[in-house]
Amino acid sequence: MSESTIFSKIINGEIPCEKLYEDEFCIAFNDISAQAPVHYLVIPKEPIISLLDISEKDKDLLGHLILVGKKIAIQKNLKNWRTVINTGEDSGQTVFHLHVHFLAGRQMNWPPG
Ligand code: AMP
Repeated sequence: MSESTIFSKIINGEIPCEKLYEDEFCIAFNDISAQAPVHYLVIPKEPIISLLDISEKDKDLLGHLILVGKKIAIQKNLKNWRTVINTGEDSGQTVFHLHVHFLAGRQMNWPPG
């Protein structure tokens, strides 16, 4: 279980977000510091810290996060996007509550750096 993070505060409504979608398992909202013209996050309501903490029991939840992100992408008429999950500080993870980034609207580079 993760400690209270900014994302748990978004989930319980303590701090606002630009919400795109919500159901009993997850919430999706625009990233506050967008790295592309489209940049949103899909996060589980369950306070999982990162992919290091997932197991077999989470496979439906993880699939759900990706499918919700895809549905939003389709609603936005996107045909190209990048999906990122940072795991651990060295990867760039700054919020220790699992989240899936969806970025689109510009040419992406590889390697990501
Ligand atoms: P990561 O670096 O993978 O942990 O991504 C965390 C992301 O959360 C960053 O892209 C931040 O800009 C974003 N973020 C942090 N606080 C908020 C917030 N209050 N609302 C929306 N996005 C946020």
